[in-house]
This record gives sequence, structure tokens and C-alpha cells, in this order.
Amino acid sequence: MSKGPKPAEILTGISYQPPPKGWMDVKPDFRPGTYCNLASPKWMEWIDYPFPASRSVAEDKWELPTDWKEIVLQGMEDRLSRFRSLKLFFDICVRCGACADKCHFFLGTGDPKNMPVLRAELMRSVYKRYFKPAGRLLGQVAGARDLTEDVIKEWFFYLHQCTICRRCSLFCPYGIDMAEMTILGREMLSSVGLSIDWALASVAQCYDKGSHIGATPQAFKDMVDFLAEENERITGITTQPSYNRKGAEVLFVMPSGDYFADPGTFTMMGYLLLFEYIGLDYTLSTYAAEGGNFGWFESHEMGKRLNAKIYAEAKRLGVKWILGGECGHMWRICNQYMPTWWGPVDFLEEPVSPITGTRFENAKVHKMVHISEFTADLIKHGKLKLDPQRNAHIKLTFHDSCNTSRGMGVFEEPRYIIKNVLPEGHFVEMPPNTIREKTFCCGSSSGINANENMELRMQGGLPRANAVRYVYEKYGVNHLGCICALDRATLPTLLGYWVPEVDVTGITELVGNALVFDEEIERTTDLRDRDLVGVAEAEEAEEAEEAAAAAAAAEEEE
Ligand code: SF4
Ligand code: SF4
Repeated sequence: MSKGPKPAEILTGISYQPPPKGWMDVKPDFRPGTYCNLASPKWMEWIDYPFPASRSVAEDKWELPTDWKEIVLQGMEDRLSRFRSLKLFFDICVRCGACADKCHFFLGTGDPKNMPVLRAELMRSVYKRYFKPAGRLLGQVAGARDLTEDVIKEWFFYLHQCTICRRCSLFCPYGIDMAEMTILGREMLSSVGLSIDWALASVAQCYDKGSHIGATPQAFKDMVDFLAEENERITGITTQPSYNRKGAEVLFVMPSGDYFADPGTFTMMGYLLLFEYIGLDYTLSTYAAEGGNFGWFESHEMGKRLNAKIYAEAKRLGVKWILGGECGHMWRICNQYMPTWWGPVDFLEEPVSPITGTRFENAKVHKMVHISEFTADLIKHGKLKLDPQRNAHIKLTFHDSCNTSRGMGVFEEPRYIIKNVLPEGHFVEMPPNTIREKTFCCGSSSGINANENMELRMQGGLPRANAVRYVYEKYGVNHLGCICALDRATLPTLLGYWVPEVDVTGITELVGNALVFDEEIERTTDLRDRDLVGVAEAEEAEEAEEAAAAAAAAEEEE
């Protein structure tokens, strides 16, 4: 972070002392660096969002529609009837406080309104005021408050300081799911024009062109073809991705971060190498060129609109099933929402690996297999020749992405792959209360990966970075592995701030490094063009040998 506080200033600025005033009497501090900009009307118009207008968080007046209060209250009533979980979550919290210190934003800021119990109270207090008799009658005494402009601003501030990670719900004895409440709260904010610009720009680009980055089909193909050329330069292996090919067995869908920006691109190179190695009959789609879904960070409806293209393309291309890349929220959506949104996917088959014959029964409903499941199965059946020494320069710890871990329980597969592609002793776990289902969020997910709220992101990511620092200092870890493209986008910035000695990598990148092809050229570098361990020494030894031979020959001539 070039501007903004230094790490030591953030650390000394955190206080967990109770505030002097009651929470209802404290207004949010909209300090630059701690909030996202409001959505530009351009993006709102692209996707027919209501009430497009130029709004600035810094202004006192936010240009709300005249009937904004009625719209929000109507929206709450509507959601209370459609989502019984919301009503339940509002009603059953016993204020036990078990969730209070479990949120990374609370740990990183010390702000009491980042305690999940209080974050929920921001909406619950309005629910009580308008939908519960005690709140109507007794007001603040019953924990109720009027919906005012200050309250809606407070929602905007704190519902974008929740990354929908669900860590708090793991510790709640009632399973109250703050993430679901945040999504519904954000839906209500969007209904009066209060979305955030960074997320909505990605949503609009995805809706219009097919990916968050707004790549045209031609640009998508150019980027992937370039990575295939890189593979050929480094390994001598020609990887030949096909696009929009009807009749392929598998549709492969990846997040755009994997073909657009480093270090995701190295993971994409790994996918291409893996598919070439096993001769997978797959196609990419230039229309479903985005597995990620920022729409879901906005509303269920927008999530569904963006998600539609994956099944639409699978149907159009006539594939049997779908293979998905290393993406976090793509998998949470796949496991928790897709079957409900679309019903039975009868036009696809229950996925079966064409290489091992393994039937992925866990994908029976949605027909989509995670690349980690697929690769782990290949390794388990001895289908890949791997040389772990090619990753000997890497000492790795693994970040369980919130969505793949808490969202769908993918814990063992990536670890199994890692242990097979790294030399023994090169994989180290972070402390147990920071991994697997208790993993800490990167602090920048759910569409808040904007530059303007960098201070907040560094605060929210502090618990994750702290655990990485621990294994760096204790074991010399130099890489953090993950199976999520958003993590690959956000963690390099986070670690650059807190633990700059540690780099970020996808897991399929490590597979690409380790894969041994019969026809490959001698590998001297990894997929990032970094020298493999021993290569420099071998070159020096060869040079010394040649020099000695030349000297001996010269001596003989004399
Ligand atoms: S879902 Fe995650 S970010 Fe949101 S309140 Fe819970 S722990 Fe915090
Ligand atoms: S842990 Fe659950 S019941 Fe306890 S305060 Fe938090 S949300 Fe309420």
C-alpha cells in the first residue's frame, strides 16, 4: 500500500476495548481507505439496475430515491416470507457472543460492529422496529430503531465489511449464517441503488461479454493461446486447447483470473499441460469464459443470471459433464445454489473420469467436478508420472479457501495433490485454528477487492497473514498455495503488505511443474521461468568440465 498506514500503525491502532457509547449512538467513520465507492450509473444501466445515479460515499446526501424507505421495508418483508432462514436468524440469536471474536474484520479492526452478532443487529434492529410488536411498541428499549438514512449508510458500510465467508456461523451454537444475511442485506441495498462500483463493473462486464474482465471471445482465445505457447517454450509440449467444440466430452470452465493475470496464468498453464498429458477430450467456451460469479455477491437473482451461461453452454456444445477450475465461489454456488436455481440437469450425465473410470457421485446433481477431485483421482490411480524435485524450490503452506472448504468440504484432495508434487518435508500446515473449516478469509473477497478500500482489506486479512508469517518464520515457508482465483488475486497484495517473503501459487501450477512427459525437452525452469533446483549447479559443473577438457587439450597440443 503506497498510501495509507504502515503495518505497524495498523497493529498499534487495533483496540478491543468496549466503546464509551452504545452502538446505536455511533455513526460509521467513512474514512478513505475503509470503504468501496458506490456504483457508477454506467454499470447499473448495463444490467438494468434500479436508480442509476452518480453517488459519492463522501457526500452527506446519497441521492436515494424518494421512496427508498418503503422499498427497503417492502424488500425486507418480501425476503422474510421467501427466506424463512432470515426470519429464523433474526429471531433465535441468544447473544451468547460465541461468534464475536471469530470474524477476521473484527480481529483486524477492533470495531465492535464487525462482531458478527452486532453486524446482524444492524438489520435485526430494523426488523424488530417494523415487524415485531415489542419493537413497534417499545422502540430502542426492545432493541429496535427506525430505518433512517444514517442506518442505511451503516448497512452499506458494514455489509461490505463482511466477505460472506461463514467462519462465524461455524462457531454459532444455532448455526446462524451471517453470510446469508449479508447477501440479503446487500440485495436490499442494491434495490435502492447502493451497490459498490468494483463488483458491479465486473458483473456488468460478465453479463455483457462473458467474463469479469470484459474480455471479448477473441481476447480470451488469444490469452489462452499465448499460455499454450508459453507451455511449449518451457516444456516442448504442444498443448492445444479447443474452443466452442461441439461434441467434446467435457466442458472446462475456469475463473477469468486464471488466464488474465499472474499468478493465475501459471495455474492455467498447469490445466493445459494436465489435459494434454491425459488426452482429455475437452473444450473451452468463449461464452462461459468465467467460472467466477460476482453477481452472487450482489443478489441471488444476479448470481443466477451470470451462472446461466455455464449450463447453457454445456447444453449447446453437447458435452457429457463439466469440469471446473480452481475457483472458490464458483464451487460454493455449484454446491449450494445451482441445483435449486435450475432443478435437475437432465441433459448432462453423472460425471465419470474417462481416464480412471471413477464415478463422481458427489456431482450427481449438478454434474460438475472440481479439478482437485479430478487430479487427486488421477494420482491415486497412478495415471500421472510426477517429479516432485521440480518443485524443490518451493516450501508450501496451504490456504483453505472459505468457499471450497466451509462451502463444500474440499480439504483432503488439494493436500493429497500437494504431497505428491512436492518433495517430502516441503509442505507445512498453518496452526489448526486457521485452516480447514476454521480457515481465515483472505479479507478481500465477495467483491470488495477494490483499491480504494485497501486499508480495510489489509486489516481484514491480518489473521490470515499472521498465520502465514508464523510458518514463514518457524519453517521457512516461501509459498502459499490455494485453489481459488480470487485468493490468487488478493493474497499477493495481502502478503506483499504483511509477509512479503511469501509468494502465492495455485495447486495445478505445481502439478504442471511436476508432470513428466515422454516427449518433453529437458526442463530447466518451472512454469514461471524460475531455475529449478540443481540446474545452476549442473550448468556450472558442466562448464567447469568443459573448461578442464579444453585446458587439457591445449596442454597436450603444446
Ligand atoms: S461471514 Fe465471515 S466476514 Fe461475515 S461476519 Fe461472519 S466471519 Fe465475518
Ligand atoms: S454465536 Fe450465534 S447465537 Fe451466539 S451471538 Fe453469535 S449469532 Fe447469536
